[in-house]
Amino acid sequence: MLREMTITTRFAPSPTGYLHLGHAYAAHTAWAKARAAHGKFLLRLEDIDRTRCKPAFAAAILEDLRWLGLSWDGAVRVQSAHLADYSAALARLEAGGLLYPCFCTRSEIARAQTAPHDGEPVYPGTCRGLSIAERTRRIAHGQKYARRLDVTRAMRATGALRFFEEGSGWVDAQPAALGDVVLARNDIPTSYHLCVVHDDALQGVTHVTRGEDLFSATHIHVLLQSLLGLPMPVYTHHKLLTDETGKRLAKRDAAPRLRTMREAGATPDEVLAQLQNQPAASHSGVESGAA
Ligand code: GLU
Repeated sequence: MLREMTITTRFAPSPTGYLHLGHAYAAHTAWAKARAAHGKFLLRLEDIDRTRCKPAFAAAILEDLRWLGLSWDGAVRVQSAHLADYSAALARLEAGGLLYPCFCTRSEIARAQTAPHDGEPVYPGTCRGLSIAERTRRIAHGQKYARRLDVTRAMRATGALRFFEEGSGWVDAQPAALGDVVLARNDIPTSYHLCVVHDDALQGVTHVTRGEDLFSATHIHVLLQSLLGLPMPVYTHHKLLTDETGKRLAKRDAAPRLRTMREAGATPDEVLAQLQNQPAASHSGVESGAA
């Protein structure tokens, strides 16, 4: 007998501030997809950057989602409590010779930038060619380093990849567009890319819905899934809400916060109704960005 596939979606905010209407749109998209299919909707707090994430924001996220009526299933996964899991995944990539230490500072990377990019500058690969002796010398001298994925080598190992974008079909993965991404920072032993891929698999997420600003990140995620032997979810990159001037809510300092709307007397139904009538940014195709 055929077993019906259970859909599992998730909302995975970083608690770096209060939720605004754009977050509500993302959360509602994932929630509605799961509920329509009698599936599961999960909540995950992506709080590995302890300098930017605050417990008060994490608590506020839960409160705002409850108020909106977007109930989630099971326990909330809090990434900062699982750093050992991500280290294990990183160690597997390291053992496969797919990482290299990068000693560049942010400004060095920006100066050496080869292509203009909306978001993080694409890393030109400065440290990729350092000899083992030079790497060892620098590490022994206490120089700080991040760990980068050697994307060219990784793609040689996996061969061509593609992912399924709901609404448009198969997309050929082009992970090189983002360059050799950082998988572990010098101050944080992991990264958004590694954690998201690890957790989507661990939590059995079958359908990832998220903003189109993460479209290029998906190309890296597909590569990591293949390298780590993890299942690939189906993707939907949805529009991003904008203000009246066309500026994305996420990039606007004064995006309407859910709690401000609530305090001003708005009901959850009114907020949800507003989501239907919001202007949206047109699909940008490839863009960088990850919290
Ligand atoms: N944590 C990311 C953010 O807040 C979203 C990650 C994702 O949906 O894959 O932008």
